[in-house]
Amino acid sequence: MSKIAMTTPLVEMDGDEMTRVLWQMIKDELIIPYVDLKTEYYDLGLVKRNETNDQVTVDSANATLKYKVAVKCATITPNAARMDEYNLKEMWKSPNGTIRAILDGTVFRAPIVVKGIEPYVKNWKKPITIARHAYGDLYKNVEMKIPAAGKAEIVYTDKDGKESRALIHEFDGPGIIQGQHNINASIESFARSCFNFGLDTKQDVWFASKDTISKKYDHTFKDIFQEIYDNEYKTRFEQAGIEYFYTLIDDAVARVVKSDGGFIWALKNYDGDVMSDMIATAFGSLAMMTSVLVSPEGVYEYEAAHGTVQRHYYKHLKGEETSTNSIATIFAWTGALNKRGELDGNNALSEFAKKLEKASLMTIESGKMTKDLALITTLKDVTVLNSQDFIKEIRKTLDTLL
Ligand code: NAD
Repeated sequence: MSKIAMTTPLVEMDGDEMTRVLWQMIKDELIIPYVDLKTEYYDLGLVKRNETNDQVTVDSANATLKYKVAVKCATITPNAARMDEYNLKEMWKSPNGTIRAILDGTVFRAPIVVKGIEPYVKNWKKPITIARHAYGDLYKNVEMKIPAAGKAEIVYTDKDGKESRALIHEFDGPGIIQGQHNINASIESFARSCFNFGLDTKQDVWFASKDTISKKYDHTFKDIFQEIYDNEYKTRFEQAGIEYFYTLIDDAVARVVKSDGGFIWALKNYDGDVMSDMIATAFGSLAMMTSVLVSPEGVYEYEAAHGTVQRHYYKHLKGEETSTNSIATIFAWTGALNKRGELDGNNALSEFAKKLEKASLMTIESGKMTKDLALITTLKDVTVLNSQDFIKEIRKTLDTLL
């Protein structure tokens, strides 16, 4: 069998610990035997980031702007313990933060739905994708403790020095205040990313906030979404047979729980933070969540939503057997290969990616899985496989499909 050719490279961002081990196994077993893989390789492992003063992260993001599609392995975000463990020159910033800032994107997280791993909400049949606005609000707030009675105000001073003021509160005694901001341009690119992803995946887009209480702040989000939808997307959504609608966040929560899934739920920064963990847990497993960063210009970076699975890595280093779930990392690869195929008009590549996804799910549905899934599955008589054997089983299934 001849290998599938590629015309344009993918940007490949290698990473750390157990996911770095899985990365190589996935390439060796599931991709290179079938695809004449072309990638521009960047090693985002912590050793290399430290060696290059994190320049490699910036370079990989710039390459992604150029080639439009990247696949990323999970990476360590350094903390105090990592400073010693890796003898770091500096506590380098989160690579995901750096990449997101360069691509100006929105992160979409979606669970991989498979028979045998059942959501806690029985009527959820299709994935629910969370789109979280990743700028501002609580995450860039300014807070103050008010020690005693006094007046707190918000003040805006324009370029000519003219002030506008609003009273926050007349305090009788101690209290607290908080200032938040967002930027119209950031909300606009968030809205466009959500609408583009809706068109891309043929799913409805819901946006929810608390505009009834926050009549200026949240209402601005609502207005910007509506204006961009009406002016730029309405016709295309109608042609694609999908919908956009806004609803109050309380109403959205009720609708989400009663739905059967299959839509994109766009949320402000804090709401998205909380709801994406709720959705991941309710669908069954963090190891089954995918994540894709989409820029308003149509640049895509695919990854697993989980981290580097540090505990398994230390076992692996000691020569002990691991049973680490590679599904979300495989789906990062298939997401990227499928998108590369779409953008290049390379149907064979997209078809291959879809078959690899199918083979992964069929393997689990046949009762062969890693330990994390065996602990929560509703299937009977399952076989628990180690990291390597699970990938080899998927390869066997894939061969039956090709
Ligand atoms: P983690 O996602 O690696 O692990 C969290 C828990 O889920 C652990 O109990 C782990 O055993 C389990 N788990 C996660 N993925 C699994 C898989 N594929 N198979 C089986 N079990 C799995 O998160 P953590 O332990 O908080 O962080 C470890 C490292 O990962 C940290 O250095 C952190 O900075 C990094 N991290 C990176 C990313 C990213 O690159 N996107 C995201 C989160 C954390």
